[in-house]
Amino acid sequence: MNNSLIVENQKSQQEAAPQPRTTKRPRDYQQISLYKDINPLDWEDWHWQMKHRIRGKEELQQVIKLSAEEESGIKNASGRLSVAITPYWATLMDPEDPNCPIRRQAVPVAAESAVSPHEMVDPCAEDRDSPAPHLVHRYPDRVLLLATDHCAMYCRHCTRRRLVGERAQEEVKSVSRFDAAIEYIKSNRKVRDVLISGGDPFTLEDELLEGLIQKIRAISHVEFLRLGTRVPVTLPQRITEKLVNTLKKYSPIWVSIHFNHPKEITKRCKIACDMLSDGGMPLGSQTVLLKGINDRPYIMKKLMHELLQIRVRPYYIYQCDPVRGTQHFRTPVAAGINIMEKLRGYTSGYAVPTYVIDGPGGGGKIPVGPNYILSQAKGKYVLRNYKGKIYAYLE
Ligand SMILES: *Cc1c(COP(=O)(O)O)cnc(C)c1O
Repeated sequence: MNNSLIVENQKSQQEAAPQPRTTKRPRDYQQISLYKDINPLDWEDWHWQMKHRIRGKEELQQVIKLSAEEESGIKNASGRLSVAITPYWATLMDPEDPNCPIRRQAVPVAAESAVSPHEMVDPCAEDRDSPAPHLVHRYPDRVLLLATDHCAMYCRHCTRRRLVGERAQEEVKSVSRFDAAIEYIKSNRKVRDVLISGGDPFTLEDELLEGLIQKIRAISHVEFLRLGTRVPVTLPQRITEKLVNTLKKYSPIWVSIHFNHPKEITKRCKIACDMLSDGGMPLGSQTVLLKGINDRPYIMKKLMHELLQIRVRPYYIYQCDPVRGTQHFRTPVAAGINIMEKLRGYTSGYAVPTYVIDGPGGGGKIPVGPNYILSQAKGKYVLRNYKGKIYAYLE
């Protein structure tokens, strides 16, 4: 789909009734003074969106009414995790409500500069498990490749805030920067799975991303290739027909998308996800459990249901890592277990992801959840079901 087709498509979808339940309508950008004169073709251009991201207080003030907490958060954010908000994401923010889940993920608050006990710079000890630049090798058969330190939008709960944010590091200009990582994968025949993440690999230009994927695909023992991204949610304009056609050539590619709240699932986001799905890419979701954003079971269930409707299979819910400055986002583990308790049995199994804690210090993802085994002895398991009824299973 080219840009004008997408603009047309959106128009005709707006005219069509009834509205699908899954897609909310954000603010019309033409009603925001900052964007009222923007040409729809520019709005649909991902480079335009990237170039016009909100980076500071002056622009932000023109889109939302800043709270005192946010004002001081923005002041303190310089020198830490940068602020970058795409104009698209800005239209999803509630201009009046500082507790808006979309706004809280993008606009820093004063609490972000506090460091709480147990918080770390690199909570999952990724730097320790790095055998080559930009590579993390923790599990026997798979590696994580950090393709860039740039994102379309910087999430305030980011676990990799030590790396990302467009501060010192310049843009990725050549795939040669991954030579050592590629060599490492080549020489380790046990690596059958490569996860390209970052930063967000979809912020790379098509040619660069293709160059990288091509090099990985050329390694015969790599059978599973996936990308981790938030772009379909924060910058859906990036998912162009050209990108999809490029990725198609290297099929199968799986894509994991970071989704945290039902408000993120707009018509425009659905178009981007549909393009990826129609291009043959299976989609999964990754969600970070965030206080006041998605820690109520009904919100999480709604998110999971809406993901299934746009062909995204819920994959993981993460306990918010103990990274510096994120205390205000962290819930008790019990909140996550309670959510899992209220999903399993009460909705489609496909709507139930795995709740994990990334073991601090480098333990990897550890599943946590309600306990369904009450006792186990001599060939007899005593189990409970989702309603609490007790069953014996004899081996
Ligand atoms: C999450 C992660 C992976 C992939 O884990 P899966 O459970 O297979 O999705 C691989 N390497 C690292 C370092 C990770 O953090």
